[in-house]
Amino acid sequence: MNPQPRIAVIGAGPGGLLCARVLQLAGVDVTVYDADASLSSRTQGGTLDLHADSGQIAIEDAELLDEFIALARPEGQSKRMAAPDGAVLMEHLAAPDEFAAPEIDRAQLRTLLADSLRPGTIRWGHRLTEVRGGSRGLRFADADGASADVVIGADGAWSRVRSALTDALPRYTGVSFVEVVFSSVSTAHPHIARLVGDGHLWVNGDGRSMILQRNSDDVVRGYLGMRVPLDWLAEAGLGVADGRGGLLAGSPSLDANATQRTDTERVRAEIRSRFADFSPDLLRIVDESEGTLPNRPIMALPTPMAWEHVPGVTLLGDAAHVMSPFGGNGVNLAMLDGAELARAIILALRDGTDLDDAIRAYEQTMIDRGASIGAGANAAIVEHFAAGGPDLDGVPDFDVEAERWRAGADEYRAARRE
Ligand SMILES: Cc1cc2nc3c(=O)[nH]c(=O)nc-3n(C[C@H](O)[C@H](O)[C@H](O)COP(=O)(O)OP(=O)(O)OC[C@H]3O[C@@H](n4cnc5c(N)ncnc54)[C@H](O)[C@@H]3O)c2cc1C
Repeated sequence: MNPQPRIAVIGAGPGGLLCARVLQLAGVDVTVYDADASLSSRTQGGTLDLHADSGQIAIEDAELLDEFIALARPEGQSKRMAAPDGAVLMEHLAAPDEFAAPEIDRAQLRTLLADSLRPGTIRWGHRLTEVRGGSRGLRFADADGASADVVIGADGAWSRVRSALTDALPRYTGVSFVEVVFSSVSTAHPHIARLVGDGHLWVNGDGRSMILQRNSDDVVRGYLGMRVPLDWLAEAGLGVADGRGGLLAGSPSLDANATQRTDTERVRAEIRSRFADFSPDLLRIVDESEGTLPNRPIMALPTPMAWEHVPGVTLLGDAAHVMSPFGGNGVNLAMLDGAELARAIILALRDGTDLDDAIRAYEQTMIDRGASIGAGANAAIVEHFAAGGPDLDGVPDFDVEAERWRAGADEYRAARRE
Protein backbone atom coordinates (compact mmCIF):
# COMPACT_ATOMS: atom_id res chain seq x y z
CA MET A 1 0.00 0.00 0.00
CA ASN A 2 1.02 3.62 -0.64
CA PRO A 3 1.43 5.74 2.49
CA GLN A 4 -2.07 6.73 3.50
CA PRO A 5 -3.10 10.10 2.03
CA ARG A 6 -5.29 12.38 4.12
CA ILE A 7 -8.65 12.39 2.35
CA ALA A 8 -11.27 15.08 2.97
CA VAL A 9 -14.77 14.77 1.56
CA ILE A 10 -16.60 18.12 1.53
CA GLY A 11 -20.34 17.47 1.81
CA ALA A 12 -22.32 14.82 3.65
CA GLY A 13 -24.94 14.34 0.95
CA PRO A 14 -25.62 10.91 -0.55
CA GLY A 15 -22.58 11.10 -2.88
CA GLY A 16 -20.02 12.19 -0.29
CA LEU A 17 -21.26 9.79 2.38
CA LEU A 18 -21.29 6.87 -0.03
CA CYS A 19 -17.72 7.62 -1.09
CA ALA A 20 -16.58 7.85 2.54
CA ARG A 21 -18.31 4.58 3.43
CA VAL A 22 -16.62 2.62 0.63
CA LEU A 23 -13.23 4.11 1.54
CA GLN A 24 -13.71 3.25 5.19
CA LEU A 25 -14.75 -0.34 4.40
CA ALA A 26 -11.34 -0.72 2.73
CA GLY A 27 -9.53 0.75 5.72
CA VAL A 28 -8.77 4.11 4.10
CA ASP A 29 -8.91 7.08 6.47
CA VAL A 30 -11.38 9.78 5.52
CA THR A 31 -12.96 12.84 7.13
CA VAL A 32 -16.25 14.32 5.94
CA TYR A 33 -16.99 18.03 6.50
CA ASP A 34 -20.54 19.38 6.16
CA ALA A 35 -22.02 22.84 6.52
CA ASP A 36 -25.13 21.56 8.34
CA ALA A 37 -25.14 21.78 12.13
CA SER A 38 -26.18 18.11 12.41
CA LEU A 39 -27.70 15.23 10.46
CA SER A 40 -31.22 16.43 11.30
CA SER A 41 -30.77 20.20 11.28
CA ARG A 42 -32.40 20.66 7.87
CA THR A 43 -35.48 19.10 6.26
CA GLN A 44 -34.21 16.75 3.59
CA GLY A 45 -37.10 17.01 1.13
CA GLY A 46 -38.76 14.24 -0.79
CA THR A 47 -38.31 10.75 -2.08
CA LEU A 48 -35.69 9.35 -4.47
CA ASP A 49 -35.73 6.25 -6.64
CA LEU A 50 -32.50 4.26 -6.63
CA HIS A 51 -31.90 2.72 -10.05
CA ALA A 52 -30.64 -0.87 -10.34
CA ASP A 53 -27.82 0.15 -12.69
CA SER A 54 -26.39 3.03 -10.62
CA GLY A 55 -27.67 3.95 -7.14
CA GLN A 56 -28.20 0.31 -6.18
CA ILE A 57 -24.73 -0.69 -7.46
CA ALA A 58 -23.30 1.99 -5.17
CA ILE A 59 -25.39 0.76 -2.24
CA GLU A 60 -24.06 -2.74 -2.89
CA ASP A 61 -20.47 -1.40 -2.87
CA ALA A 62 -21.27 0.20 0.45
CA GLU A 63 -22.50 -3.20 1.72
CA LEU A 64 -25.84 -1.69 2.69
CA LEU A 65 -28.18 -3.53 0.32
CA ASP A 66 -30.17 -5.35 3.02
CA GLU A 67 -30.63 -2.15 4.99
CA PHE A 68 -31.75 -0.34 1.85
CA ILE A 69 -34.22 -3.09 0.91
CA ALA A 70 -35.73 -2.91 4.40
CA LEU A 71 -36.50 0.79 3.87
CA ALA A 72 -37.27 0.81 0.13
CA ARG A 73 -40.78 1.21 -1.25
CA PRO A 74 -41.22 -0.70 -4.55
CA GLU A 75 -44.88 0.38 -4.68
CA GLY A 76 -43.60 3.97 -4.85
CA GLN A 77 -42.74 3.33 -8.50
CA SER A 78 -46.45 3.48 -9.39
CA LYS A 79 -47.34 6.36 -11.69
CA ARG A 80 -50.54 8.23 -12.46
CA MET A 81 -50.98 11.06 -14.91
CA ALA A 82 -53.99 13.37 -14.90
CA ALA A 83 -55.22 16.31 -16.92
CA PRO A 84 -55.83 19.73 -15.31
CA ASP A 85 -59.56 18.91 -15.15
CA GLY A 86 -58.70 15.89 -12.97
CA ALA A 87 -59.34 13.17 -15.58
CA VAL A 88 -56.90 10.27 -15.15
CA LEU A 89 -55.03 9.80 -18.44
CA MET A 90 -52.59 7.03 -17.52
CA GLU A 91 -52.06 4.62 -14.64
CA HIS A 92 -49.13 2.28 -13.98
CA LEU A 93 -49.19 0.05 -10.91
CA ALA A 94 -45.76 -1.19 -9.83
CA ALA A 95 -45.51 -4.81 -8.66
CA PRO A 96 -44.56 -5.17 -4.98
CA ASP A 97 -41.47 -7.19 -5.97
CA GLU A 98 -40.29 -4.72 -8.64
CA PHE A 99 -36.83 -3.61 -7.52
CA ALA A 100 -35.71 -1.80 -10.70
CA ALA A 101 -36.00 1.62 -9.05
CA PRO A 102 -37.70 1.54 -5.63
CA GLU A 103 -38.19 4.73 -3.67
CA ILE A 104 -36.57 5.77 -0.40
CA ASP A 105 -36.98 9.04 1.50
CA ARG A 106 -33.95 11.28 1.10
CA ALA A 107 -33.71 11.65 4.89
CA GLN A 108 -33.73 7.87 5.37
CA LEU A 109 -31.01 7.41 2.75
CA ARG A 110 -28.80 10.11 4.25
CA THR A 111 -29.26 8.68 7.76
CA LEU A 112 -28.51 5.14 6.56
CA LEU A 113 -25.25 6.30 4.96
CA ALA A 114 -24.21 8.62 7.81
CA ASP A 115 -24.84 5.94 10.45
CA SER A 116 -22.70 3.46 8.49
CA LEU A 117 -19.60 5.61 9.09
CA ARG A 118 -17.39 5.33 12.14
CA PRO A 119 -18.43 7.80 14.88
CA GLY A 120 -16.58 11.10 14.51
CA THR A 121 -16.01 10.73 10.74
CA ILE A 122 -18.41 13.56 9.93
CA ARG A 123 -17.55 17.05 11.18
CA TRP A 124 -20.85 18.93 11.21
CA GLY A 125 -20.90 22.73 11.28
CA HIS A 126 -17.99 22.99 8.80
CA ARG A 127 -19.03 25.23 5.91
CA LEU A 128 -16.11 25.27 3.49
CA THR A 129 -15.29 28.71 2.13
CA GLU A 130 -12.09 27.96 0.22
CA VAL A 131 -9.63 25.29 -0.88
CA ARG A 132 -6.19 26.87 -0.97
CA GLY A 133 -3.05 26.11 -2.94
CA GLY A 134 -0.86 23.04 -3.26
CA SER A 135 -1.04 22.09 0.43
CA ARG A 136 -4.84 21.77 0.05
CA GLY A 137 -5.64 23.99 2.99
CA LEU A 138 -9.33 23.98 3.83
CA ARG A 139 -10.98 27.11 5.20
CA PHE A 140 -14.31 26.98 6.96
CA ALA A 141 -16.73 29.77 7.85
CA ASP A 142 -17.04 29.14 11.59
CA ALA A 143 -14.49 26.45 12.40
CA ASP A 144 -10.74 25.96 12.45
CA GLY A 145 -9.10 25.18 9.13
CA ALA A 146 -7.73 21.78 8.12
CA SER A 147 -5.61 20.31 5.36
CA ALA A 148 -5.76 17.22 3.19
CA ASP A 149 -3.84 15.50 0.39
CA VAL A 150 -7.00 14.72 -1.58
CA VAL A 151 -10.05 17.01 -1.42
CA ILE A 152 -13.28 15.53 -2.79
CA GLY A 153 -15.92 18.15 -3.55
CA ALA A 154 -19.27 16.52 -2.84
CA ASP A 155 -20.78 19.82 -1.77
CA GLY A 156 -23.68 19.95 -4.19
CA ALA A 157 -24.93 22.40 -6.80
CA TRP A 158 -23.25 25.49 -5.27
CA SER A 159 -19.97 23.70 -4.57
CA ARG A 160 -17.14 25.76 -3.14
CA VAL A 161 -14.60 23.08 -4.05
CA ARG A 162 -15.59 23.51 -7.71
CA SER A 163 -14.29 27.07 -7.70
CA ALA A 164 -10.76 25.67 -7.19
CA LEU A 165 -11.18 23.95 -10.59
CA THR A 166 -13.42 26.09 -12.78
CA ASP A 167 -15.45 29.31 -12.79
CA ALA A 168 -18.50 27.47 -14.18
CA LEU A 169 -21.76 28.05 -12.28
CA PRO A 170 -25.18 26.46 -12.59
CA ARG A 171 -27.60 28.27 -14.90
CA TYR A 172 -31.34 28.60 -14.57
CA THR A 173 -33.30 26.10 -16.70
CA GLY A 174 -36.33 28.40 -16.96
CA VAL A 175 -38.37 26.25 -14.57
CA SER A 176 -39.01 26.72 -10.85
CA PHE A 177 -40.50 24.24 -8.43
CA VAL A 178 -42.48 25.35 -5.37
CA GLU A 179 -42.44 22.66 -2.70
CA VAL A 180 -45.66 21.35 -1.16
CA VAL A 181 -46.02 18.94 1.74
CA PHE A 182 -48.87 17.11 3.47
CA SER A 183 -48.29 15.21 6.68
CA SER A 184 -50.70 12.64 8.18
CA VAL A 185 -52.07 12.71 4.66
CA SER A 186 -54.47 9.77 5.00
CA THR A 187 -56.37 11.46 7.82
CA ALA A 188 -55.68 15.18 7.38
CA HIS A 189 -55.90 15.30 3.56
CA PRO A 190 -57.59 12.04 2.46
CA HIS A 191 -58.51 13.40 -0.99
CA ILE A 192 -54.83 14.17 -1.67
CA ALA A 193 -53.87 10.68 -0.44
CA ARG A 194 -56.38 9.24 -2.92
CA LEU A 195 -55.17 11.42 -5.79
CA VAL A 196 -51.54 10.37 -5.31
CA GLY A 197 -52.03 6.70 -4.42
CA ASP A 198 -48.85 4.78 -3.49
CA GLY A 199 -46.55 6.42 -6.03
CA HIS A 200 -46.40 9.53 -8.19
CA LEU A 201 -49.07 11.83 -9.58
CA TRP A 202 -48.33 14.13 -12.54
CA VAL A 203 -50.80 16.76 -13.67
CA ASN A 204 -49.55 18.59 -16.73
CA GLY A 205 -50.95 21.91 -17.86
CA ASP A 206 -49.55 24.43 -20.28
CA GLY A 207 -46.13 25.35 -18.86
CA ARG A 208 -47.17 24.17 -15.40
CA SER A 209 -47.15 20.79 -13.66
CA MET A 210 -48.20 19.40 -10.32
CA ILE A 211 -45.86 16.56 -9.34
CA LEU A 212 -46.73 14.75 -6.12
CA GLN A 213 -44.99 11.77 -4.54
CA ARG A 214 -45.88 9.44 -1.71
CA ASN A 215 -43.16 9.41 0.97
CA SER A 216 -42.91 7.12 3.98
CA ASP A 217 -44.61 7.88 7.29
CA ASP A 218 -47.94 8.94 5.74
CA VAL A 219 -46.43 12.00 4.06
CA VAL A 220 -46.96 13.31 0.53
CA ARG A 221 -44.45 15.78 -0.87
CA GLY A 222 -44.30 17.39 -4.23
CA TYR A 223 -43.71 20.34 -6.47
CA LEU A 224 -45.73 22.90 -8.34
CA GLY A 225 -43.53 23.34 -11.38
CA MET A 226 -43.79 26.46 -13.54
CA ARG A 227 -42.03 27.90 -16.53
CA VAL A 228 -41.27 31.34 -15.07
CA PRO A 229 -38.50 33.93 -15.04
CA LEU A 230 -35.90 33.32 -12.36
CA ASP A 231 -37.11 36.28 -10.30
CA TRP A 232 -40.81 35.58 -10.70
CA LEU A 233 -41.49 36.08 -7.00
CA ALA A 234 -39.71 39.42 -6.98
CA GLU A 235 -41.65 40.44 -10.09
CA ALA A 236 -44.85 39.64 -8.18
CA GLY A 237 -43.66 41.90 -5.35
CA LEU A 238 -42.91 38.95 -3.08
CA GLY A 239 -39.15 38.88 -2.78
CA VAL A 240 -35.90 40.60 -3.59
CA ALA A 241 -34.42 40.08 -7.03
CA ASP A 242 -30.74 39.35 -6.97
CA GLY A 243 -30.27 37.50 -10.22
CA ARG A 244 -30.39 34.03 -8.67
CA GLY A 245 -34.07 33.81 -7.92
CA GLY A 246 -33.68 35.43 -4.54
CA LEU A 247 -30.87 33.14 -3.42
CA LEU A 248 -28.70 35.18 -1.13
CA ALA A 249 -25.58 36.21 -3.02
CA GLY A 250 -22.78 33.79 -2.24
CA SER A 251 -25.08 31.40 -0.39
CA PRO A 252 -24.43 27.77 -1.29
CA SER A 253 -27.88 26.65 -0.25
CA LEU A 254 -31.02 26.56 -2.35
CA ASP A 255 -33.43 28.35 -0.11
CA ALA A 256 -36.69 30.16 0.19
CA ASN A 257 -36.01 32.76 -2.44
CA ALA A 258 -35.79 35.74 -0.14
CA THR A 259 -39.51 35.47 0.48
CA GLN A 260 -40.40 36.28 4.05
CA ARG A 261 -42.22 33.58 5.96
CA THR A 262 -45.00 36.07 6.59
CA ASP A 263 -45.56 36.27 2.84
CA THR A 264 -46.55 32.61 2.50
CA GLU A 265 -50.24 33.40 2.01
CA ARG A 266 -49.44 35.95 -0.69
CA VAL A 267 -47.19 33.41 -2.42
CA ARG A 268 -50.04 30.90 -2.20
CA ALA A 269 -52.45 33.38 -3.80
CA GLU A 270 -49.94 34.11 -6.58
CA ILE A 271 -49.51 30.38 -7.33
CA ARG A 272 -53.25 29.77 -7.17
CA SER A 273 -53.79 32.42 -9.84
CA ARG A 274 -51.17 30.72 -12.04
CA PHE A 275 -52.96 27.34 -11.73
CA ALA A 276 -56.47 28.85 -11.94
CA ASP A 277 -57.56 26.56 -14.80
CA PHE A 278 -56.86 23.40 -12.72
CA SER A 279 -59.88 21.63 -11.16
CA PRO A 280 -61.05 22.70 -7.67
CA ASP A 281 -59.97 19.30 -6.33
CA LEU A 282 -56.43 19.79 -7.65
CA LEU A 283 -56.30 23.37 -6.37
CA ARG A 284 -56.66 21.97 -2.85
CA ILE A 285 -53.00 20.91 -3.30
CA VAL A 286 -52.11 24.62 -3.38
CA ASP A 287 -54.60 25.61 -0.68
CA GLU A 288 -53.72 22.93 1.86
CA SER A 289 -49.96 22.62 1.59
CA GLU A 290 -48.21 22.96 4.93
CA GLY A 291 -45.02 24.97 5.47
CA THR A 292 -43.69 28.01 3.69
CA LEU A 293 -44.01 27.03 0.01
CA PRO A 294 -40.25 27.26 -0.64
CA ASN A 295 -39.22 28.10 -4.16
CA ARG A 296 -36.58 25.93 -5.86
CA PRO A 297 -35.32 27.37 -9.13
CA ILE A 298 -34.07 24.38 -11.14
CA MET A 299 -30.44 25.04 -12.01
CA ALA A 300 -28.06 23.02 -14.16
CA LEU A 301 -24.38 23.16 -15.02
CA PRO A 302 -23.45 23.43 -18.69
CA THR A 303 -22.95 20.11 -20.48
CA PRO A 304 -20.29 19.01 -20.94
CA MET A 305 -18.56 20.66 -18.02
CA ALA A 306 -14.90 19.72 -17.96
CA TRP A 307 -11.91 21.34 -16.31
CA GLU A 308 -8.15 21.16 -16.42
CA HIS A 309 -7.22 18.41 -13.98
CA VAL A 310 -5.76 19.74 -10.71
CA PRO A 311 -3.83 17.19 -8.63
CA GLY A 312 -5.40 16.54 -5.25
CA VAL A 313 -8.83 18.11 -5.92
CA THR A 314 -11.79 16.43 -7.56
CA LEU A 315 -15.60 16.52 -7.63
CA LEU A 316 -18.54 14.15 -7.58
CA GLY A 317 -22.32 14.33 -7.89
CA ASP A 318 -24.11 17.65 -8.20
CA ALA A 319 -20.87 19.57 -7.62
CA ALA A 320 -19.64 18.18 -10.94
CA HIS A 321 -22.84 17.90 -12.98
CA VAL A 322 -25.97 19.26 -11.33
CA MET A 323 -28.80 18.67 -13.77
CA SER A 324 -32.58 18.96 -13.94
CA PRO A 325 -34.39 16.34 -11.84
CA PHE A 326 -36.15 14.92 -14.91
CA GLY A 327 -35.25 11.25 -15.18
CA GLY A 328 -34.35 11.09 -11.47
CA ASN A 329 -30.64 10.60 -12.16
CA GLY A 330 -29.00 13.12 -9.83
CA VAL A 331 -28.73 11.05 -6.68
CA ASN A 332 -28.02 7.86 -8.60
CA LEU A 333 -25.08 9.45 -10.37
CA ALA A 334 -23.81 11.11 -7.18
CA MET A 335 -23.69 7.74 -5.42
CA LEU A 336 -22.17 5.89 -8.38
CA ASP A 337 -19.53 8.64 -8.72
CA GLY A 338 -18.79 8.25 -5.00
CA ALA A 339 -18.41 4.47 -5.28
CA GLU A 340 -16.22 4.67 -8.40
CA LEU A 341 -13.97 7.38 -6.97
CA ALA A 342 -13.53 5.37 -3.78
CA ARG A 343 -12.67 2.23 -5.76
CA ALA A 344 -10.16 4.15 -7.89
CA ILE A 345 -8.42 5.43 -4.75
CA ILE A 346 -8.49 2.02 -3.03
CA LEU A 347 -7.02 0.20 -6.05
CA ALA A 348 -4.24 2.78 -6.51
CA LEU A 349 -3.29 2.52 -2.83
CA ARG A 350 -3.43 -1.28 -2.89
CA ASP A 351 -1.40 -1.66 -6.08
CA GLY A 352 1.00 1.19 -5.37
CA THR A 353 0.10 2.94 -8.64
CA ASP A 354 -0.15 6.69 -9.09
CA LEU A 355 -3.10 8.03 -7.11
CA ASP A 356 -3.45 11.11 -9.25
CA ASP A 357 -3.62 9.06 -12.46
CA ALA A 358 -6.42 7.03 -10.88
CA ILE A 359 -8.37 10.18 -10.00
CA ARG A 360 -7.82 11.60 -13.47
CA ALA A 361 -9.22 8.41 -15.05
CA TYR A 362 -12.22 8.52 -12.69
CA GLU A 363 -12.88 12.14 -13.73
CA GLN A 364 -12.92 11.28 -17.42
CA THR A 365 -15.62 8.60 -17.00
CA MET A 366 -17.62 10.68 -14.51
CA ILE A 367 -17.54 13.86 -16.63
CA ASP A 368 -18.56 12.06 -19.84
CA ARG A 369 -21.40 10.18 -18.13
CA GLY A 370 -22.67 13.29 -16.31
CA ALA A 371 -22.59 15.31 -19.53
CA SER A 372 -24.54 12.83 -21.61
CA ILE A 373 -27.20 12.14 -18.95
CA GLY A 374 -27.33 15.80 -17.91
CA ALA A 375 -27.90 17.03 -21.47
CA GLY A 376 -30.90 14.69 -21.76
CA ALA A 377 -32.34 15.69 -18.38
CA ASN A 378 -31.96 19.41 -19.10
CA ALA A 379 -33.56 19.12 -22.53
CA ALA A 380 -36.42 17.05 -21.04
CA ILE A 381 -37.42 19.67 -18.48
CA VAL A 382 -37.41 22.44 -21.08
CA GLU A 383 -39.51 20.34 -23.44
CA HIS A 384 -41.93 19.30 -20.72
CA PHE A 385 -42.61 22.89 -19.69
CA ALA A 386 -42.77 24.25 -23.23
CA ALA A 387 -46.20 25.45 -24.36
CA GLY A 388 -48.71 22.62 -24.62
CA GLY A 389 -50.86 20.54 -22.39
CA PRO A 390 -50.64 16.96 -21.22
CA ASP A 391 -48.67 14.86 -23.66
CA LEU A 392 -49.15 11.12 -23.42
CA ASP A 393 -46.63 10.54 -26.21
CA GLY A 394 -43.86 11.74 -23.89
CA VAL A 395 -44.68 9.15 -21.20
CA PRO A 396 -42.10 6.36 -21.13
CA ASP A 397 -43.04 2.68 -21.13
CA PHE A 398 -42.32 1.95 -17.47
CA ASP A 399 -41.83 -1.80 -17.96
CA VAL A 400 -39.26 -1.14 -20.70
CA GLU A 401 -37.55 1.43 -18.47
CA ALA A 402 -37.37 -1.10 -15.60
CA GLU A 403 -35.91 -3.71 -17.94
CA ARG A 404 -33.30 -1.18 -19.13
CA TRP A 405 -32.17 -0.55 -15.53
CA ARG A 406 -31.90 -4.28 -14.84
CA ALA A 407 -29.99 -4.97 -18.06
CA GLY A 408 -27.76 -1.97 -17.36
CA ALA A 409 -26.92 -3.39 -13.94
CA ASP A 410 -25.94 -6.75 -15.48
CA GLU A 411 -23.75 -5.00 -18.05
CA TYR A 412 -22.08 -2.83 -15.42
CA ARG A 413 -21.23 -5.81 -13.21
CA ALA A 414 -19.96 -7.82 -16.19
CA ALA A 415 -17.73 -4.93 -17.32
CA ARG A 416 -16.34 -4.58 -13.81
CA ARG A 417 -15.45 -8.29 -13.61
CA GLU A 418 -13.39 -8.03 -16.83
C1 LIG B 1 -36.62 19.60 -6.76
C2 LIG B 1 -35.62 18.50 -6.92
C3 LIG B 1 -36.06 17.19 -7.06
C4 LIG B 1 -35.13 16.16 -7.23
N1 LIG B 1 -35.59 14.88 -7.39
C5 LIG B 1 -34.69 13.90 -7.64
C6 LIG B 1 -35.11 12.56 -7.88
O1 LIG B 1 -36.32 12.26 -7.86
N2 LIG B 1 -34.17 11.61 -8.11
C7 LIG B 1 -32.82 11.92 -8.14
O2 LIG B 1 -31.99 11.03 -8.38
N3 LIG B 1 -32.40 13.15 -7.92
C8 LIG B 1 -33.28 14.16 -7.68
N4 LIG B 1 -32.84 15.41 -7.45
C9 LIG B 1 -31.40 15.66 -7.47
C10 LIG B 1 -30.71 15.12 -6.22
O3 LIG B 1 -31.32 15.70 -5.10
C11 LIG B 1 -29.23 15.46 -6.26
O4 LIG B 1 -28.70 15.12 -7.51
C12 LIG B 1 -28.45 14.74 -5.16
O5 LIG B 1 -28.90 15.11 -3.88
C13 LIG B 1 -26.97 15.07 -5.30
O6 LIG B 1 -26.25 14.50 -4.25
P1 LIG B 1 -24.87 15.12 -3.81
O7 LIG B 1 -24.38 14.25 -2.70
O8 LIG B 1 -24.01 15.34 -4.98
O9 LIG B 1 -25.22 16.59 -3.27
P2 LIG B 1 -26.23 17.08 -2.15
O10 LIG B 1 -27.29 16.10 -1.88
O11 LIG B 1 -26.65 18.46 -2.58
O12 LIG B 1 -25.34 17.19 -0.85
C14 LIG B 1 -24.38 18.22 -0.72
C15 LIG B 1 -23.96 18.31 0.74
O13 LIG B 1 -22.92 19.29 0.83
C16 LIG B 1 -23.17 20.14 1.93
N5 LIG B 1 -22.57 21.43 1.59
C17 LIG B 1 -22.98 22.33 0.67
N6 LIG B 1 -22.14 23.36 0.63
C18 LIG B 1 -21.16 23.11 1.53
C19 LIG B 1 -20.00 23.81 1.95
N7 LIG B 1 -19.65 25.00 1.42
N8 LIG B 1 -19.20 23.26 2.91
C20 LIG B 1 -19.52 22.06 3.47
N9 LIG B 1 -20.63 21.36 3.11
C21 LIG B 1 -21.43 21.88 2.15
C22 LIG B 1 -24.68 20.18 2.07
O14 LIG B 1 -25.06 20.50 3.41
C23 LIG B 1 -25.06 18.75 1.69
O15 LIG B 1 -25.09 17.89 2.81
C24 LIG B 1 -33.75 16.45 -7.25
C25 LIG B 1 -33.31 17.76 -7.09
C26 LIG B 1 -34.24 18.79 -6.94
C27 LIG B 1 -33.75 20.22 -6.79
